[in-house]
Amino acid sequence: MTTKEDGDREVTKLVRGQPTSDGAGVKLIRVIGTQALPQLDPFLLLDEFGSDDPSAYIAGFPNHPHRGFETVTYMLEGRMRHRDNKGNEGVLESGGVQWMTAGRGIVHSEMPEQRAGRMRGFQLWVNLPAAQKMTAPRYQEFAGDQFELVMPSAGMSAKVIAGRFGSSVGPVTGIAIDPLYIDLRLGPGIAQELPVAAGHAAMMYVFDGAARCGGTAVPKGTLAVLGDGTRVRVTAGKEGAAVLLIAGRPLGEPIARYGPFVMNTRDEIAQAFADFHAGRL
Ligand code: FE
Repeated sequence: MTTKEDGDREVTKLVRGQPTSDGAGVKLIRVIGTQALPQLDPFLLLDEFGSDDPSAYIAGFPNHPHRGFETVTYMLEGRMRHRDNKGNEGVLESGGVQWMTAGRGIVHSEMPEQRAGRMRGFQLWVNLPAAQKMTAPRYQEFAGDQFELVMPSAGMSAKVIAGRFGSSVGPVTGIAIDPLYIDLRLGPGIAQELPVAAGHAAMMYVFDGAARCGGTAVPKGTLAVLGDGTRVRVTAGKEGAAVLLIAGRPLGEPIARYGPFVMNTRDEIAQAFADFHAGRL
């Protein structure tokens, strides 16, 4: 048992990821963006993709548009090539992160650059405030070895993708919702406390092993939505734990959403379709 202290964020809801498929038939686990959890303002979607079986991922995500939000791809294992209609192209490899601000719009593909072996990773959709939905597209991309691994104590390491933990500041900058995105690895039974800004929406997703947050067990493949507070205490189960800790400032704005377009009004969604079909993305 852990004793709750002032400022500790408690689990308010547990959500199991649901198997689905997207793109051209990529099998994935949808964690946010389901009926159980349509969104967690400012987060619109969280998918875990991963398989040893190429037939589960080989079809990839052929050309598709985005407008009005950001996609964050974190590759744990594997290689994925992205290519867009503005001439941007690159390969995301194991440990790499791409934070793409779609803004007013891009059309891109995200295709596996491997025909065999394991592929595993996450895609998070982050909403943009109304004032930035039509901003120019922007990419921030970092290879795995560009991240500093923070190891403040034995049996614990943290990779800070965005935000801050201790003296480590993630390389992703200039994001509207002031995000925290940490890949936390804990050895068996190890406990760690991490600060999370008060008032920000926060969640932890256990993708290997098992963890506890306060008095609540969080099994593998489960998202724990966290209540307000200034810190989160995570304790690994006896097999250790791998956890994504993600937080950000809620926007509190109306959401009009249709597929790859996330705007504030139905009219703006109709405009996005019109612009896409007219080749203006
Ligand atoms: Fe995409």
